[in-house]
Amino acid sequence: MFWLRRGGATLAMVAEPLSALTLDRVGRVYGDGRAALDDVSLTVPRGRFLAVMGRSGSGKSTLLQCAAGLDRPTSGSVRVGGTELAGLGEAALTRLRRDRIGFVFQSLNLVPSLTVQENAALPLLLADTPDEGRALAALATVGLADRAQDAPDELSGGQRQRVAVARALVTRPEVVFADEPTAALDPDTAEVVLALLRQAVDDTGCAVVLVTHDPTAAEWADEVLFLDGGRVAGRLDRPDAGQIRQALRTLGDRR
Ligand code: ADP
Ligand code: MG
Repeated sequence: MFWLRRGGATLAMVAEPLSALTLDRVGRVYGDGRAALDDVSLTVPRGRFLAVMGRSGSGKSTLLQCAAGLDRPTSGSVRVGGTELAGLGEAALTRLRRDRIGFVFQSLNLVPSLTVQENAALPLLLADTPDEGRALAALATVGLADRAQDAPDELSGGQRQRVAVARALVTRPEVVFADEPTAALDPDTAEVVLALLRQAVDDTGCAVVLVTHDPTAAEWADEVLFLDGGRVAGRLDRPDAGQIRQALRTLGDRR
């Protein structure tokens, strides 16, 4: 928040756009001394959808893990909302991940012994704040309210990934991280999952960070960030799949 002043009079109070996620000069060096991430800075405001692209080994998953508090950077700073992650101990970090972040991964990671509804409610159950209404609302958002009492293995792969999206959204998180969430899905089903992430950004104002190798998936984003060798190698605003393919080719040619 800051104040606009002119001639001594305060004209208006202006809200700064709230950042859901900020990385400032983040580095991650693994044991072998090589930097998987090198000096990466980015800001994702609330209500914005960022796609992260780059060849295999370029640091996409490391970026996502550091940004989501699943891994600790070796340098630089990560903030979720106003919270600096480096200042948090393990228990506080676990709570932050559970309560303020949503996750969707490539491999379907539902708990097979729980119902669809219990899976969607999992972050609430782990926080000891069960809320059946919220869980059902999250399932309704992904079009699966009528499957609430089924077991995950009674659903198709695409439906299971929609449950994973419901689970990611059930706490109304500030940021949703998705690592190749559509890689195992056919194109039509992938589109449904991506549309749900887009809808979450537009309707709830959360931020989404999507790691993908698929230009048609990245097309759903507001911005695409390209990584190469752990460094930011380029950015595109609201690109179409053709522009994204061109940028990926250019990256490849630079080698
Ligand atoms: P991407 O997701 O883009 O394929 P990653 O973030 O998984 O890339 O990996 C980036 C680099 O870091 C690669 O060179 C990879 O081999 C290395 N790396 C990833 N995880 C580890 C780890 N746990 N230990 C050592 N090196 C790792
Ligand atoms: Mg990866």
